[in-house]
Amino acid sequence: MSKKTNPKPSTPTRLGGGYNWIYLVIFIGLIGLQFAANQSSATSPSSFNDFSKMALRGDVDHVKVVNKEIVLVFIKEEALKKNEAYEKISKKAYGDGLNPGPHFEFEMPAETFEIKIQRLYEIHADWYKSNGELAIEYKEEKNYALEVLGWILPLLLFAGLWFFLMRRMGGGGGPGGQIFNIGKSRAQEFDNNTEAKITFKDVAGMEGAKEEVLEVVDFLRNPKKYTDLGGKIPKGVLLSGPPGTGKTLLAKAVAGEAMVPFFSLSGSDFVEMFVGVGASRVRDLFKQAKDKSPSIIFIDEIDAIGRARGRNAFSGGNDERENTLNQLLTEMDGFGTNEQVIVMGATNRADILDRALMRAGRFDRIIYVDLPELKERKEIFQVHLGNLKLDPGLDVDFLARQTPGFSGADIANVCNEAALIAARKEKKQVEKQDFLDAVDRIVGGLEKRNMIITPEEKKSIAYHESGHATVSWLLEHASPLVKVTIVPRGKALGAAWYLPEERHLTTTEQLLDEMCATLGGRAAEEVVFGKISTGALSDLEKVTKQARAMVTIYGLNDKLGNITYYDSSGQNEYQFDKPYSEKTAEVIDAEIHTLIESQYHRAVQLLRDNLDKLHLLAADLIAHEVIFKENLIAIFGDRPWKSKQDVIDQIEAESETEVLSENSSDSTAE
Ligand code: ADP
Ligand code: ZN
Repeated sequence: MSKKTNPKPSTPTRLGGGYNWIYLVIFIGLIGLQFAANQSSATSPSSFNDFSKMALRGDVDHVKVVNKEIVLVFIKEEALKKNEAYEKISKKAYGDGLNPGPHFEFEMPAETFEIKIQRLYEIHADWYKSNGELAIEYKEEKNYALEVLGWILPLLLFAGLWFFLMRRMGGGGGPGGQIFNIGKSRAQEFDNNTEAKITFKDVAGMEGAKEEVLEVVDFLRNPKKYTDLGGKIPKGVLLSGPPGTGKTLLAKAVAGEAMVPFFSLSGSDFVEMFVGVGASRVRDLFKQAKDKSPSIIFIDEIDAIGRARGRNAFSGGNDERENTLNQLLTEMDGFGTNEQVIVMGATNRADILDRALMRAGRFDRIIYVDLPELKERKEIFQVHLGNLKLDPGLDVDFLARQTPGFSGADIANVCNEAALIAARKEKKQVEKQDFLDAVDRIVGGLEKRNMIITPEEKKSIAYHESGHATVSWLLEHASPLVKVTIVPRGKALGAAWYLPEERHLTTTEQLLDEMCATLGGRAAEEVVFGKISTGALSDLEKVTKQARAMVTIYGLNDKLGNITYYDSSGQNEYQFDKPYSEKTAEVIDAEIHTLIESQYHRAVQLLRDNLDKLHLLAADLIAHEVIFKENLIAIFGDRPWKSKQDVIDQIEAESETEVLSENSSDSTAE
């Protein structure tokens, strides 16, 4: 596992921070209301029976019937003082003095109460004649606490909802507040004093890119050296290359080496649903960076804002993005060369960027970062293997060979995955097989061991994959095979894996041989079973695309000649009409058809000629589920051709012995 993940970003302080006091005020207010409603007295629960006894004793001063359902009883002062029965309620709940009442209460509908009182009068008529009737008062009383709550609660709910929405739009951070921050940039700042600093040591390979970037580091470290001579410090550096090739890593390394603050954010961070927010964020970002200059601004996925303007004819409403881009251009023009802020951008689609962005004085330096080649992969492996407990006999060279087309991020992933696999198997160290399993898993997805496949299907899959393997083995320019499996993985039922040669130019023969090998699967089904299945969909898709590219893009077709319909500017991406006539379209269709069919027949013929070997291979595959290059050599014998890799190996081996003889104290340490 890589230890050098993100250094801790220093969290930006936000305005206000605490809207908590609002909640506090509301809370206290509510309690206060509740208190006010209850504080009038300490009232004891009671019943009509008790009440009638008190009344007959002559202790009751008066009675209040509230809201026609609650009866409040007030006791005479003299009774409170002299009668011990009232001791508990005679004092005020808070403070000194006599309790003013009500002293007792009980629930009873007003009508019932009246009837009962009348009965009381009838039964004790004499008593009432001498003492007089009770004073009864009827009153409607509102519970203000409840009333107020009734309309405050919905208000609170709305306010809460609003805050929540604002917070979502503003993204992250504490409660409330965000609405005031929406135009602020959300750049993560990495300071030069964070410990987990990334330097060029952590970036393997990429020699060319590192060299170019080294200049930037020097600019930032000794700007005077350049400005004294009247030179201008570059403003923008664009890193362009496939995802995972270490662009972000390189930019961080620049900041680490130059020991300046590094503001990192992604192009999509500028995009928000409000108009003008993106532009304001750009402004804020540059202001922040200038305050801390010399510094580096790093914008990842810059194509999210830097896409050529006016291209997206369909989506409409991309004014906001254009505004953001315009602001970026203005800022880059606006800051002087002496401000020492360097903008680094990364994209994997440099081709769609607006030309204005790449003009001199903006991103005038473009550094291409490619997928690593064999030697670079080895170095990247060495960086990431550093953190693992390895089998001492592990051959790094072998690992690099097994991972053509992998990016730096893929390799980091393989190393991590291998460690996880080894841990699952309770191993003490990570071994070669764990790495192979990790590669399989990353290329093909999870193994699906418990997927149910009938023996017939299995046979068909085995022949299909054997067809690919046989044809590619027998053709000079097809890629050499690594292994064939019929264990379902991810979406595929089976797979034949090749080691594609890392070539810079591809000839017609190579393309044709590859197409033939791709069609080998379906051809084998036809040769052996006399019928074909739907299992070849992805093969057909690949072949069709390749054939179309040969005819319309690479100009490799005799009938059409040296013509390409490829448009590198992408200007016509959204046009419906084709750049050629109907007649040409017919020729193209016919040529693609002929090309594919001829390769298919070639594959069928090859398999017919080698049918016995195909049967052997398929039987092997059904028995073992996985077969390797060695099994093929056992059946077909060695391939008579040398692969490009063999040639490179030979050259490298020769030059290495030269170096060794020149300098005997050769150090393997990086
Ligand atoms: P990008 O920005 O090009 O998509 P990143 O810089 O985010 O790629 O790379 C992702 C990860 O891949 C890095 O954090 C690092 O672990 C690994 N990686 C990529 N390239 C290299 C390299 N040249 N050397 C070492 N590690 C690399
Ligand atoms: Zn296939």
